[in-house]
Amino acid sequence: MNPGGPTDHTLAQGLLAGGMMDRPLMIADVLVFASDVYGDGTITSRRVEGDLHTTTYADTRKRTEQLAKALKDLGIQPGERVATMAWNGYRHVELYYAVSGIGSVCHTINPRLSAEQIEFIVAHANDKALFVDLTFVPLIEKLVHRLPKELKIVILCGREHMPDTSIEGALCYEELLAAQDPGFAWPRFSENTASSLCYTSGTTGNPKGALYSHRSTVLHALMCAVAFQNALFPGSSVMPVVPMFHVNAWGSPYTAPLTGSNLVMPGPNLDGASLFSLMDEVGVYSAWGVPTVWLGLLEAIKAAGRPPMSFKDVVVGGSAAPRTMIEQFDDMGVSLCHAWGMTEMSPIGTQANLTPPLSELPKDQRFDLKVKQGRRTFGVEMKIVGEDGTRQPHDGQAMGELYVRGNSVIKEYYNNPEATAENFDDQGWFRTGDVATIDPLGFLQITDRAKDLIKSGGEWISSIDMESAALAHPQVANCAVIAIAHEKWDERPLLVVVPEPGETVDKDSVLALLQNSFAKWQLPDDVVSVEALPLTATGKVSKLTLRQQFQHHYADNN
Ligand code: ADP
Repeated sequence: MNPGGPTDHTLAQGLLAGGMMDRPLMIADVLVFASDVYGDGTITSRRVEGDLHTTTYADTRKRTEQLAKALKDLGIQPGERVATMAWNGYRHVELYYAVSGIGSVCHTINPRLSAEQIEFIVAHANDKALFVDLTFVPLIEKLVHRLPKELKIVILCGREHMPDTSIEGALCYEELLAAQDPGFAWPRFSENTASSLCYTSGTTGNPKGALYSHRSTVLHALMCAVAFQNALFPGSSVMPVVPMFHVNAWGSPYTAPLTGSNLVMPGPNLDGASLFSLMDEVGVYSAWGVPTVWLGLLEAIKAAGRPPMSFKDVVVGGSAAPRTMIEQFDDMGVSLCHAWGMTEMSPIGTQANLTPPLSELPKDQRFDLKVKQGRRTFGVEMKIVGEDGTRQPHDGQAMGELYVRGNSVIKEYYNNPEATAENFDDQGWFRTGDVATIDPLGFLQITDRAKDLIKSGGEWISSIDMESAALAHPQVANCAVIAIAHEKWDERPLLVVVPEPGETVDKDSVLALLQNSFAKWQLPDDVVSVEALPLTATGKVSKLTLRQQFQHHYADNN
């Protein structure tokens, strides 16, 4: 097997070598370019310290040079891993560039992982240093005795905010920088050098690492710049709500400087009201994140009676945006674009921006396309494979497991041969674990995670479609459809709903609504109300937790 396809770049016999320079694609060059060309471009961050901080790409380059020198003084060697546990903010951007720029690897840790998982990945990655936001100091204080003794811990603040901490030898970030002058010659090395490391949230088993390279990161940034050109252009302001500890905030810390867009970093406060006021104050044009975040923002918009000023574009990924959400944003003049991807794909694989003539279709037909996850981005290939192992047609009907390959897709999991063996086919395609269709226009539609599909009496039921339909019910604020074991049918769907504030959900009227789009046998056997849905470390609904919680529901109620 040769995962990821051929890696041999020697010329086949008879071919003529091109006469062009072979300069490596380097991450540091993105920031150097931004500072040369878009030096006044800004990064505005809501800091953990509470205030709003603005810097430019030109200044960020200087501070990143100081940080590179400081990392060297700390003894960080090329190839070694440097971990971060931080919100979206300018210091985290500096770490992205400086750590990879000196040939080391920036390992972003998701602070919402369990203590066991954090301990596991720090050991698995063999991190040499850990840079933490003030918010996470108490978490690290509790964990520190389980982390390697030699781990250098740096707190991301100035001396005036340094906490009185029990972490022995904790260093102050701003002091490290202040000890250095700007000016640093970024070393050049192979573009295939590892640059950053991100672990999947590991809902089953231990987290698995995706180790990105300079080449994959720069190519991913270029392809996103092309795919999201309606959002990313000089002077536009882009706010990644998707955290920098989760797949590099979908690559935005690279794509925004590359395209001259300003970055708006929301820091720790990700509730609807905080996001609304930040967007309003800074003039965010495009905001990126998972659907749960946008449910919160929609509440804040409802309360204010208007969307934030300048807000025109929202990119939704991580899980499916329900149709009602697409409609609500559209009604206020905000275009919602699905993007689909995975940690293993850097992460972007598809995007659903409509191009002419599709963008001129009547509303309903536009929404029919926008509920899908979109068309592939340059450099990503997709295939769907049926249960019998054969490749399925792209007819919008045939459903199968989705496989991908491309320049920004992993060819293996980091130091994990077992997971690698399980997740690639014998032609080197990566197995996504998603079940999908692809229509003749090339639009991918995710029906389910393979593990979330519901198989009732031998027939599949898509939970994503049903959730989208149920959310159109006025009493339903949020919902999830899960498979519950059933004696006769194997599995039957159960609809778990969070009622709108002050409402109770009427089961019969929800089922009546679903009956418009689903056959009777597909309808959930029951509808249960809960106060809130459990979330995973990446802010998605944890169906695993829900399934465990309700596993005996049909047995108990039979
Ligand atoms: P995690 O396991 O940390 O949640 P990822 O963010 O890598 O990791 O999750 C990738 C999965 O999220 C995809 O395989 C897919 O199931 C789901 N997903 C991502 N984007 C979308 C989308 N736009 N619509 C539906 N599902 C999505």
